[in-house]
Amino acid sequence: MLPPESLDAALFYSRAQVYARCAFALQRDPNVAGAESLFDAALSNSLAVIVGSSWSGEEFRPKPGKDGKLKVLFSRELLDILASKARAQAVTPAGTALTAPQVRVDGIAAEWDVTGATATAVELTVTHFLDIPPEQLQPHRPEGPLGSAFRPFTPSHHIVRVDSAVLLDAIDIANGIRHGNDADGELEQRHLDALFALDAHPGLNRLLTAQIDATERDDIDADQLRVDLANDYLRLLTQDEIDRRVKAADWLAPDPFEDDGLQDCPLCGNCTLIPDGGSDSFGYNIRAGICFVCSYRRSREQAEQEAMSLRLDQLPD
Ligand SMILES: [Zn+2]
Repeated sequence: MLPPESLDAALFYSRAQVYARCAFALQRDPNVAGAESLFDAALSNSLAVIVGSSWSGEEFRPKPGKDGKLKVLFSRELLDILASKARAQAVTPAGTALTAPQVRVDGIAAEWDVTGATATAVELTVTHFLDIPPEQLQPHRPEGPLGSAFRPFTPSHHIVRVDSAVLLDAIDIANGIRHGNDADGELEQRHLDALFALDAHPGLNRLLTAQIDATERDDIDADQLRVDLANDYLRLLTQDEIDRRVKAADWLAPDPFEDDGLQDCPLCGNCTLIPDGGSDSFGYNIRAGICFVCSYRRSREQAEQEAMSLRLDQLPD
């Protein structure tokens, strides 16, 4: 069972959104202009979530700033807190009442450098569920025979690896570039991967959604381009030429002897769309393909969108 929400939920949601937007921009284009600022914003917001959701309020400076508001610690300081928590084995005491976005820390461990003074990585084991008997908790998601998918749901721990040394290296590089100093190197994929790994925390966990949203937006843009091109092309065709193509399309159908070999084109309205891709997941047999008359290409995503619209139209008011 998920815990009830606290007054801090909106702040944590906002932090997680900033992390997801900035981290996804880097995931999409590691060389995007301002990558160092994106990295900085994503890291400070994600570490504020990780520290604040496990040790409430410790992500802030003890004294308020000039405007009377508490200030979030620098990323470097938040990493220090995680290291000190690992050294102290600061797990959440049994029986602690949680309110979202708080998470329970069931384990925290660190890897130390040769001096033993500096953590090079911290690994947290957390869960945001309440009242789970320890025997039901699983260290990793179940991997087994196909039948295991039908077992009752048992929430698993989230394992969050914080690569402190790599992130500290990235902070130095990003700071140098952001402030116009002589930076020592540039952000590399290993720095970005360390940032993306933080998404495993249940208080973050938004990168996949950001990817799906971006894919949908991309397809909408690409479809608009395909619509514009097809409309331009359609204007060049005479009615005689359209009629000729409608007849000829029959022989290009995957199965010319089946009535449903061709599909209606959503752009020109002729039954001349030659399917060459998968069908929608709603069972309407709306498929991706290309129209032999107007050249419009319906993508798999657009086929899915049409099917979803059809499904919504059929739902009772
Ligand atoms: Zn068409």
